[in-house]
Amino acid sequence: MIYDLIILGAGPAGITAAVYAARKRLNFMVVTRDIGGQAAISGDIENYTGYQFITGPDLAKKFADHLKQFSFPLKEGEAVRQVKKLADKAFKVITDQGEYEGKALIVATGKIPRPLRVPGEAKFKNRGVSYCATCDGPLFAGKSVAVIGGGNSALDAALSLAKIAKQVYLVNINPRFTGDPIMEEKLRAADNVVILNGANTLKINGDKFVTGIEVKIGGETKTLPVQGVFVEAGLTPNSAFIEFVDKNKAGEIEVNCATETSEPGVFAAGDVTTVPDKQIIIAAGEGSKAALRAFRYLAELK
Ligand SMILES: Cc1cc2nc3c(=O)[nH]c(=O)nc-3n(C[C@H](O)[C@H](O)[C@H](O)COP(=O)(O)OP(=O)(O)OC[C@H]3O[C@@H](n4cnc5c(N)ncnc54)[C@H](O)[C@@H]3O)c2cc1C
Repeated sequence: MIYDLIILGAGPAGITAAVYAARKRLNFMVVTRDIGGQAAISGDIENYTGYQFITGPDLAKKFADHLKQFSFPLKEGEAVRQVKKLADKAFKVITDQGEYEGKALIVATGKIPRPLRVPGEAKFKNRGVSYCATCDGPLFAGKSVAVIGGGNSALDAALSLAKIAKQVYLVNINPRFTGDPIMEEKLRAADNVVILNGANTLKINGDKFVTGIEVKIGGETKTLPVQGVFVEAGLTPNSAFIEFVDKNKAGEIEVNCATETSEPGVFAAGDVTTVPDKQIIIAAGEGSKAALRAFRYLAELK
């Protein structure tokens, strides 16, 4: 069985691509580790048009409901390991559970959090060290936590944690934040948030669980007494499984404004691509473009 189209990933980009593919009556399938992607772990979302406010999990649920209106093979909980090019203008997708062939692909596998790579991080993972404030924040109610990072994800995590934790230290290696000023203003107004700009995280301490972190700030080493450490140090694209398309140095798949990659028949959308600015609405828009472009490619395929 050769599908017309295989969509890899079901975050905002992959889900939107699937909705468009279903409406175009393509013979397609979706293979994905989870449904919702990063949107499902985002905190408060205030910039998805049509919703002045919605939580990440609620928006992801709406996306999933929309997706599941359609009938098509959905391989959830499956990880793509490798994509191969076949001789006859087709592709093979090899996962941890099977193999699938398609005439066209949409890669929408997004990004995953980048580790800090400091002593103690691996040892205390899930024992105080977390990569998801939305998922693990409630475990730290009334406790002290550190958020490491200075972009929108870090500011978002610090804002959600400030509502739960006793004390939040926001540890940013750079002298200024790169996240949205409106979020920074909200954080500065919170009385339980301490902002440490220009602070380098050296080490995570603990016994059974995290007990603190060591940071270097202004030439001085300080220990912050925290029970939770939320790593928000950027993201890495999930693109290692496909080697035959052009990527930039960061591993993002190069696309043109029509979501086409360097390989005819392979389209890419959302955070995994070189499209600047990683946002839910952008990923969803790119996903719709990729499906429409794949539809046209398939119609013209000899
Ligand atoms: C904490 C946080 C807060 C955020 N807040 C906002 C916000 O307020 N507003 C906003 O617009 N954006 C926000 N974002 C960014 C937004 O979530 C992303 O830009 C968006 O989710 C990207 O969508 P995507 O579909 O490209 O990728 P992702 O959401 O990363 O989805 C990728 C999908 O691919 C799957 N996948 C990955 N690798 C594989 C593999 N090897 N095999 C199979 N499946 C795979 C994943 O399981 C997932 O389903 C936030 C992100 C984070 C982390």
